[in-house]
Amino acid sequence: SSNRGSSGIFQRRTVSGRVPADLGRRRLRIVVTGGAGFVGSHLVDKLITRGDEVIVIDNFFTGRKDNLVHLFGNPRFELIRHDVVEPILLEVDQIYHLACPASPVHYKYNPTNVMGTLNMLGLAKRVGARFLLTSTSEVYGDPLEHPQKETYWGNVNPIGERSCYDEGKRTAETLTMDYHRGAGVEVRIARIFNTYGPRMCLDDGRVVSNFVAQAIRKQPMTVYGDGKQTRSFQYVSDLVEGLVALMEGEHVGPFNLGNPGEFTMLELAEVVKAVIDPSATIEFRPNTADDPHKRKPDIARAKELLNWEPKISLKDGLPLMVSDFRNRILNEDEGKGL
Ligand code: NAD
Ligand code: UDP
Ligand code: UDP
Repeated sequence: SSNRGSSGIFQRRTVSGRVPADLGRRRLRIVVTGGAGFVGSHLVDKLITRGDEVIVIDNFFTGRKDNLVHLFGNPRFELIRHDVVEPILLEVDQIYHLACPASPVHYKYNPTNVMGTLNMLGLAKRVGARFLLTSTSEVYGDPLEHPQKETYWGNVNPIGERSCYDEGKRTAETLTMDYHRGAGVEVRIARIFNTYGPRMCLDDGRVVSNFVAQAIRKQPMTVYGDGKQTRSFQYVSDLVEGLVALMEGEHVGPFNLGNPGEFTMLELAEVVKAVIDPSATIEFRPNTADDPHKRKPDIARAKELLNWEPKISLKDGLPLMVSDFRNRILNEDEGKGL
């Protein structure tokens, strides 16, 4: 009887054994690489809440124990300090592979996208786990097609400053499809568009975290270039819903996961101003090289095949990250004796 879900229907044997009363199916053992980071920690919360066992692998390059500390006493939760560039042996049912130096100031340092992805695919192959790659809208580069559909092959500079991220993720997608076709690994690919929310890294230079932190600190918001470039901003809980729907669904992808609401950086600054401080100011700075001019997901495929779409607009989502940012900025200031 221990091989039966509580629904009474025989299901695939899983590595973690017993059936929790409230799950209606077998409990899964799930690895989340990069689970101490911004997106990863929210995903871990969701998986723990629904009753599964979660093992986080993270080297704390940009992630923080603080993001997971509320789970430390939970017997269904484990945290391993490990660099995914090195092999690791585990017995698991699913792998959400998020580990990656994910912002412009960090990503140039690390071969994680290639070696880390290869190791996690090797692990998935050995134990028969399902593998989900968190790829990125950056695979479209500075797109010549707008909005971007999954069928678009992208416009990426192979030798520019952003290239190790863009090309690293493109290589990770290639490896993922090779393991799928060549070794029969069950894979899923998400192409994530700009995402924001509580627990975002404070100082990794992304635009939403920069503007919010600057407005709270009463500093001018730094607009790069003329501020007319666009992005589409997704609240983190919408993304987490999409990742889980993709993992549990029957389709490999790739799937765009993003909010189609498109804003210029000047418009974003206006929203931050309205939400945090009507007296906030802006300051123009030179833009970075190869900055994509426009970005907006076409999410028709995810709507149709995953029955997923984002629910939270920028105006509703931004206030949800403000108290977290205020607290962390306050703690930082206290730490400095201010
Ligand atoms: P994050 O920096 O908060 O999280 C990444 C995590 O990976 C961190 O905890 C970091 O310590 C860990 N990590 C990095 N290198 C590692 C290594 N070699 N071994 C083990 N752990 C390692 O970033 P995030 O925003 O949460 O991004 C998560 C994933 O989503 C990334 O793969 C990123 O490329 C993708 N993504 C994010 C966005 C976004 O807007 N947040 C957009 C597109 C794609
Ligand atoms: N790997 C791992 N954990 C495992 C199985 C494999 O970290 O449980 C690593 C392995 O060390 C290798 C990579 O994943 O570097 C790819 O493994 P695969 O078996 O596909 O390749 P091979 O070892 O045959 O080259
Ligand atoms: N940006 C900005 N001010 C900042 C940080 C970024 O105007 O303080 C711009 C940046 O030039 C880019 C956009 O905001 O055009 C989004 O940048 P981010 O690094 O957040 O995401 P990505 O470029 O990866 O989409």
